[in-house]
Amino acid sequence: MDRRAVWPDFRPEWILHDDGDVIVVDKPVGVSSQAADPERPDDVVTRLRAHLNGAYLGMHQRLDRDTSGLLVFARRKEANASLAAQFEGRSVKKGYLAGVTGWPKGKSEATLTDALLPDQDGTMRVVDGRSAARPQPGQDLGRRGSKVKVAVTKVKVVGRRGDRALLELDLETGRTHQARVQLAHARSPIAGDALYGGAPAPRLMLHASSLGMKHPITGKAVVFSAPAPAELEAWLEKGDPLERVYDDPPALARALARALERRWVLGRGDSGPRATTAFRLVNEEGDGLPRLAVDVYGDWLVAQFYGDGTSPATPERGQHLGAGPWAEKARRDRVLDALAALGFDGVYLKVRPRQSNVLVDTRREDLAPALPVRGAPAPAQLPILEEGAPFLVRLGDGLSTGLFLDQRANRRRVRELAQGAAVANLFAYTCGFTVAAALGGAKRTVSVDASAAALERGRENLVHAGISLGPDHAFAADDAFGWLARAARRGDRFDLVILDPPSYSSTKSRRFVADTDYADLAAQALALLNPGGRLLACTNHRGISPSRFRRILFDAGRAAACELSQVKDLPEPADYPVPSGGEPHMKAALVTRV
Ligand code: SAH
Repeated sequence: MDRRAVWPDFRPEWILHDDGDVIVVDKPVGVSSQAADPERPDDVVTRLRAHLNGAYLGMHQRLDRDTSGLLVFARRKEANASLAAQFEGRSVKKGYLAGVTGWPKGKSEATLTDALLPDQDGTMRVVDGRSAARPQPGQDLGRRGSKVKVAVTKVKVVGRRGDRALLELDLETGRTHQARVQLAHARSPIAGDALYGGAPAPRLMLHASSLGMKHPITGKAVVFSAPAPAELEAWLEKGDPLERVYDDPPALARALARALERRWVLGRGDSGPRATTAFRLVNEEGDGLPRLAVDVYGDWLVAQFYGDGTSPATPERGQHLGAGPWAEKARRDRVLDALAALGFDGVYLKVRPRQSNVLVDTRREDLAPALPVRGAPAPAQLPILEEGAPFLVRLGDGLSTGLFLDQRANRRRVRELAQGAAVANLFAYTCGFTVAAALGGAKRTVSVDASAAALERGRENLVHAGISLGPDHAFAADDAFGWLARAARRGDRFDLVILDPPSYSSTKSRRFVADTDYADLAAQALALLNPGGRLLACTNHRGISPSRFRRILFDAGRAAACELSQVKDLPEPADYPVPSGGEPHMKAALVTRV
């Protein structure tokens, strides 16, 4: 496949105007306008410059990554002074379109004036109304100092349906997240805004639609405008836009295009010492595509349809997806056709009835066809790279491929922490964490899993990664609880223990339910740590929220009579976006013992 065709530097249709003095683009959702990370430049300036063969570009504005719309660049240096003066002097007239919920009925116009202060995690918040009574733009707000900035946004309602409204915004100031935080504060958050509590939507429903200014060279008044995105135009249509996507091929193609753009840096990051060729391309509602997950493995895609849990206990062929969104074959085919059109060599399919505790034969041909459902087959053992680490996966061998991609960032952490460490990897499966630890310079590793077949694949992964299998790398085909008890009795101690169990499991000797048994498991793992040692604890059980997971780990510390110096929540990876109002599936924390 041609990755540069799937993830091109820039698409010519994004350029709206180019007169040699200024160039105006319609930035899509998912493309950053911040200065590039020098190692992985995926921002709009670097990409546009590459498209223009290294041409000069002067930048004077920013747009949030998930906001679409107008950006004006100087095409030559002579245009900079005027653009800078106009943007800094606020003489540019900036028009936006926003889809919101909750805007009061009968209020057709308003001016929002708020004092904003940086909050946690890069968000902003409105400073309390009384202390910032009647703020004026540019006003000094006293002891909070220069961090407080006044934002002014004029709002005009241009359409409504029920609780949804489409607003035209006139941003008189240009503060970070201004429209998002001000509208949220006015109890009308922008739809799709996961940071500020917006209603579910296919994307962040905010678009920079017009810029009125003086042409920096000719001095003439000009208005640049970017057409309203289809998602915003459809905001007032009947029905749920998230469900409609599967019956509207253009909307589906747009959603997939958004998902691709959001992962440009991963898509193009397939060479160099940190090369990655396997990652998530579509993460269900987080990408506006409910009950669909799609992963990239090298030149292939693996699509996963999730049922809605209404499937019968002994599903007949074609019925295990229940009455949910995938019941209709024509719909499934539309999705597979749209995926096949993206430019990969083939598409594999996995069908997952939602009840993960119901045991299904994961090799059933109707749930996990051995051959791709579109395109050409991949090698039976497909080599992929993750941040430079090699792994082997099998795309047509049951429901799992042999590598859980949501653990990429945690495998990186293990690699960074492993130097000289004794590492125990519990529920090791195909030993992804063991490979990471060994590549990171672990002194010794033990991989424990109830499945000897999984450990055999783990050995293959270690060999494939160039690690020699000696006494330093032990494998225990054993029940994790039994192994923990015996290790404790032996006095075996570790610097790093990795705990990544399934949500439910039952082996000959033991039944494990994450919901009730995790704290006990974590306590036993903590008891094996050397002083200063660390536990990487993970769960993707949907019933355990991030805050409950922290409590479980503190309880485990108490039960193990072991003082914890830190319990650090680890953020979800960027290719697993969380929908507005949702919680990450993967919860991970790094616990350090005193
Ligand atoms: N941590 C793995 C993924 C775990 S998948 C990774 O990073 O890729 C869950 C694994 O737990 C399976 O391989 C299964 O065989 C194993 N397992 C389930 N119950 C077990 C038990 N009681 N003891 C040991 N392993 C168990």
